Amino acid sequence: MSKIQICLATNNPHKVLELQQMLGNTFDLKTLNEIGCFDEIEETGATFEENSKLKADYVFNKYALNIIADDSGLEVETLNNEPGVFSARYGGIPTNHEKNISKLFLNLGDSKNRNAKFRTVITLIFEGITYFFEGEIKGTILSNKRGNEGFGYDSIFMPDGFTVSFAEMDSIQKNKISHRGIAIQKMLNFLQSKKNIE
Ligand code: IMP
Repeated sequence: MSKIQICLATNNPHKVLELQQMLGNTFDLKTLNEIGCFDEIEETGATFEENSKLKADYVFNKYALNIIADDSGLEVETLNNEPGVFSARYGGIPTNHEKNISKLFLNLGDSKNRNAKFRTVITLIFEGITYFFEGEIKGTILSNKRGNEGFGYDSIFMPDGFTVSFAEMDSIQKNKISHRGIAIQKMLNFLQSKKNIE
């Protein structure tokens, strides 16, 4: 049986490797570059849904392949869900995780409400039909950075029910509970059911 090809709308080799391992042999994952796409796809949407759909639609309209695109970020309750879609560039351009965290600390000040959540939305276009998968994890913003693992806002986010930050967890532990891990698992269950039906 030939493998089912899917393009993951990214050129991040870590994301591709991680997802390929989870997808197994039935699916053959390609990066944007591997399908010949070198375009800069701008994320101009106001929501994670819009941004992930925008990327998926762009690639689908040009290449008519099965596509997976995702968009994620941090939403802080008392900051009206900022930084949200601006998470990567919150501290300005060129983007830098340290600047992003400094700006978040500045805006949060000594606010008592430190509730936050990470959210991911995946858009999957499979056999021409669009599906969305969402994942979120609630937690609190710490007053100081803790841990050296991960990336982005990991060192200042402590998930509910834990006493360690994301940056104090190893990637296996984090992926089990993270926004991205949850959304990916939902999509995998869906693709698995498709595979079993066909
Ligand atoms: P992306 O859509 O997955 O590229 O995420 C956009 C931005 O959101 C990243 O550059 C980070 O600033 C932030 N972010 C998303 N997921 C995480 C995470 O798991 N840990 C820390 N920061 C994250």
